[in-house]
Amino acid sequence: MATTSITRKTLGLETVEPALTPPPANSDTSLFRKRKIGPSQSRKKEIPEGLWTKCPECESMIYDRELDENLKVCPKCSHHFPIGARERIHALVETCSFEEMDPTMRSVDVLQFTGVATYKSKLDSYQKSSGQKDAVVTGVGKIGPHRVALGAMDFGFLGGSMGSVVGEKLTRLVEAATDKGLPVIIISTSGGARMYEGMFSLMQMAKTCGALAYHAKARLPFISILTHPTTAGVMASFASIGDLILAEPAAMIGFAGPRVIKDTTQAELPKGFQTAEFLLDHGLIDAIVGRKQMKDRLLFYLDYLLEGQRQISVLG
Ligand SMILES: [Zn+2]
Repeated sequence: MATTSITRKTLGLETVEPALTPPPANSDTSLFRKRKIGPSQSRKKEIPEGLWTKCPECESMIYDRELDENLKVCPKCSHHFPIGARERIHALVETCSFEEMDPTMRSVDVLQFTGVATYKSKLDSYQKSSGQKDAVVTGVGKIGPHRVALGAMDFGFLGGSMGSVVGEKLTRLVEAATDKGLPVIIISTSGGARMYEGMFSLMQMAKTCGALAYHAKARLPFISILTHPTTAGVMASFASIGDLILAEPAAMIGFAGPRVIKDTTQAELPKGFQTAEFLLDHGLIDAIVGRKQMKDRLLFYLDYLLEGQRQISVLG
């Protein structure tokens, strides 16, 4: 493609002293030039990428470092941005107290699934970009004085979908907690069961709930924290059976999406349908807790629940 040269404007300075004082070759006359903006050099480049984020709720521009320091919560309107599993864990546990479990467990492409891309290539690319093997991080750490079995899901890894690795890691976490007499806390965010693994994904719903039933039988508490979004197979299994169910503000929580429900029932959905606030009003969850208050609130609940447990063991 031919390029057309654009005559540089010099704000009429050339008419004052046209030939007598030509600018030296290395002089910076950029102040007087109208820069050509081509497709590869847009005005957007003037704001370095990755430094500022626009809040989708209040439209403020937030300095990224400020957003990170604020646990990815908008300092102006408290909108909760997505946050990774490791950042969540880091924000909750005492420094250096977290011992990760099964960090190298990875999925096998049993069905040899191929859609737009193969399951294997999807897994490879997500593992490469996230540095994680799958959509959940599990382990044991301390919140205040309490040792807890903690699992956090990551929506950034294949939509936080639950395949056999997510199910197995959570099940092992719950079983370890039952053995060691620890409470379980699982922070969910998920689009549901992972279709690439078909039935093997659906089996995880029963497996995780089975492990939690044994955990409950040992009279140990399970706190489920629902974050935006928690839906489908995850909400229909372990995420909805916590002794305490907490949610982050404005999180979307449900089984099928609102459009599917609307199309199926042909009915107008109530305002705020499937938000944490709506579910609190209707008794499905116990409390809405902001991300920045979550650690203190968990500590309060653990103090209460584990004191009760201690008294039971003394009495019985
Ligand atoms: Zn905001």
